[in-house]
Amino acid sequence: MPWNTTFEPLALPAMFARTVQACPDAALLYFLGRTFTYGELFRDAQAFAHALKRRGIAPGDRVGLFLPNVPSYVVAYYGAMMAGAVVVNFSPLYSVEELEQQVADSGTRLLVTVDVPELYATAQKVLQGSALKTLVVSSLAQMLPFAKGLAMRVFARSKIARVDYGESVLRWDEFLEGGRKHGGKLPEIDPQALALLQYTGGTTGTPKGAMLTHANLSINAQQVAGLNPYGDPSHEVFMGALPFFHVFANTALLNHAVVTGAAIAMVPRFDAKQVLQTIEKHGATGFPGVPTMFQALLDHPDLDKTDVSSLRVCISGGAPLPAPLREKFEARTGVRLVEGYGLTESSGVISTNPYEGTRKPGTIGQVVMQTEVLLLDKEDPTVLAAEGEPGELALHGPQIMQGYWNRPDAAKDVFVEHQGKTWLRTGDVATLDSDGFLEIVDRIKDMIAVGGFKVFPSQVEDVLLDHPGVKEALVIGRPDSYRGEAPVAYVTLNADAQATGEELRDWLNARVGKHERADEVVIRADLPKTMIGKLDRKALRAEVLG
Ligand code: AMP
Repeated sequence: MPWNTTFEPLALPAMFARTVQACPDAALLYFLGRTFTYGELFRDAQAFAHALKRRGIAPGDRVGLFLPNVPSYVVAYYGAMMAGAVVVNFSPLYSVEELEQQVADSGTRLLVTVDVPELYATAQKVLQGSALKTLVVSSLAQMLPFAKGLAMRVFARSKIARVDYGESVLRWDEFLEGGRKHGGKLPEIDPQALALLQYTGGTTGTPKGAMLTHANLSINAQQVAGLNPYGDPSHEVFMGALPFFHVFANTALLNHAVVTGAAIAMVPRFDAKQVLQTIEKHGATGFPGVPTMFQALLDHPDLDKTDVSSLRVCISGGAPLPAPLREKFEARTGVRLVEGYGLTESSGVISTNPYEGTRKPGTIGQVVMQTEVLLLDKEDPTVLAAEGEPGELALHGPQIMQGYWNRPDAAKDVFVEHQGKTWLRTGDVATLDSDGFLEIVDRIKDMIAVGGFKVFPSQVEDVLLDHPGVKEALVIGRPDSYRGEAPVAYVTLNADAQATGEELRDWLNARVGKHERADEVVIRADLPKTMIGKLDRKALRAEVLG
């Protein structure tokens, strides 16, 4: 398919339809031995859209996806948008409380999950206790007939005997079949309409839904496609190891593939061995990932036995790419590993080093087309940083979100006016050189980047404060050669408390998600405070990390 760089604000269903017309029989997904074509997934998405209409889902209603990387993700994502609904992406690692909170905040009416016991059990609990009306459960066995035995074994091993279908828990295949029979007309989608609510901690840690329109997402996908220097992009095969619920995958994998007619070799979740096999089997040409994925490939004994020569470029984003990792990866594989940058509020992608030609290691590269940057004074975002000084990176472009769902106050903190335009504050401190290369040198926002996953110190501190012995807690990120950064907690204890650091660490780590687990809990006599007596995370960071 020919590619040009005149970006159009397309509705995602129209973008999908255009590619389907050009190449209905081309592969969109390779998944565990099966090929799913553009035409097939498009027809299923249409059926899903009709089924939603039948169930009373109207344009603007929220439809949640609580799924790992499976073909039904793609069907439900585009299908919901074809019905005019707003997709809400939920991490499949969410606990009941996290899912419940975001389902309630977004007003999700219908949730799609899969018959993996842990996911189903979590979704089922949320269905009982929230305003959620319907759960649609897709079946692993149906996507992969050979996996039928596996699915049954997984259920047999878990505490849940089976999926309890009924009035509000529906079978995926029956749901789709109903939609197919129903037919009728689907709504015309305005490219400026809301397409996706993508939850993020933003700069403070309180989860809020970044509002991304069809135009935001389709243009960001086109901006990413515009980086390709290799000619006809429909021959590309992307390694699909990033979790699809994340905005980076939404743009760099899914919408990028769909706008160009490329294929995705998808794995259910990251597993180094499986990723190496998949690259070789499908001749993957590009691999967007987070630094820990490339580190895991490097550490895997199969790397030298695997033919990865089909790869032309690997793109690392989501967290800083350590220089030794890049050097070792390139030396061992002969594949160029470039660093890029983006955030949820920018539909995923803002900048990258070029795939070919001159790059600047250690930088996050140059911004994608139609994107402008400013550096703001670190203390006062209403003025610009002094010439040549680092400043808070601010962004203007067609991929920037509209605001946060139901939180106009939070948006006020993140948008700022300069030169007659609205700019998104990133909370990241950067420098900009004369060739337009940006380097992230610091972070203003309270966030720890653990291998591309975001950990918000305040949330881990809140868990620690639930321990009866803990009086005060501060969590900071310590540089870590594998994960980029790792959470470390500093606490003071109540007068009569006896706990040791190891006990507290084990206690904490049993209560938080995988990425939030602390490497260490350090007990101190006191913690730094600000002038008005608030715990001072910044001072602790300066004291501990220098
Ligand atoms: P998220 O919204 O979860 O995608 O997180 C976005 C944040 O991840 C950015 O604001 C940065 O703080 C961080 N980030 C992403 N890419 C990089 C990178 N290449 N180097 C440093 N930080 C990054």
